[in-house]
Amino acid sequence: MIEPCLQKFRHLHTDKNRTHWTAVTTHRAPHKPLLLLSVIDLFAQDYIRSNFIELDDELMELFGLYWQAVNPPSKRGDITMPFFHLRSEGFWHLLPQPGQEAALAVKRRTDGLKQLRQLVLGVRLDEALYQLLQDEQSRNLLRTTLIQTYFAPEMHQRLVARGQSNAEAFQYSMDLLQKARENTAKEAPEETYSPAVRDQGFRRVIVTIYEHRCAFCGVRILTADGHTAIEAAHIIPWHVSHNDDPRNGLALCRLCHWSFDEGLVTLTPSYQIKLSPQLAAPDNIPGHLTAFGKRPFLGPDDQSLWPFPDSISWHQQTLFRHR
Ligand SMILES: [Zn+2]
Repeated sequence: MIEPCLQKFRHLHTDKNRTHWTAVTTHRAPHKPLLLLSVIDLFAQDYIRSNFIELDDELMELFGLYWQAVNPPSKRGDITMPFFHLRSEGFWHLLPQPGQEAALAVKRRTDGLKQLRQLVLGVRLDEALYQLLQDEQSRNLLRTTLIQTYFAPEMHQRLVARGQSNAEAFQYSMDLLQKARENTAKEAPEETYSPAVRDQGFRRVIVTIYEHRCAFCGVRILTADGHTAIEAAHIIPWHVSHNDDPRNGLALCRLCHWSFDEGLVTLTPSYQIKLSPQLAAPDNIPGHLTAFGKRPFLGPDDQSLWPFPDSISWHQQTLFRHR
């Protein structure tokens, strides 16, 4: 019985404020439908395998991608709002952290990511909705209902395409990971994917195995709208290597990524970070970059996914500024 769930999806309580929300989002706050679209994606990818939804990096990134698809850059999103307030819809049950039952029960609004994580362990869906989300046809109906109800017609195709790209990028990232773990010979699965999907998939596998942490300086910052300081860097650039193997990649913050591509920082064969003497040239102020020279890099827990020695030595020999 899908109709009761579709009814609930059609009648979400959303902020209706014509001065704040344009016709693109049917003059309503798009937070709840965008979060539900992200959750549907995670079910479709078989990423969520039980009736328990966490506010994790994966969900935050997807929410960020959907948010960007319909909102101008100046409009800030905040995933904590729908994650908390969907509880008023009757199908989204917040599970308190141990000992936080009473605090959560009296809470009327959230004060950001930190506080929400302290109060809420995750979400359990109504059993009927959970069962529907196991089925592709039902998922598509729920998805279409959200898109058609809450977004202007010119946005429909864009949101459908967003979902398709998310699914393909997820599949590509899983292919890359599996190939790396099995250590199979480098084929070219990337040929079947569009450049945008390839980028998103490579990024997903890198930020996942490095847990959104810069491999050099250790920075990890995610915003409530799913933006992150971390980028997926190729060690041998894509245009040279055509190799998206995660072992040809590193998770780096923007400054470390730029420094790496400029050859101001590299890795040694023993995975130590090595700085170029150019950093200390007169008038340069390299700041915290000098702090992690000669330190080990912060690799994935699974050491079999650490960078290829060949990629590292290519970077040392080709891009690194030795003097
Ligand atoms: Zn960094």
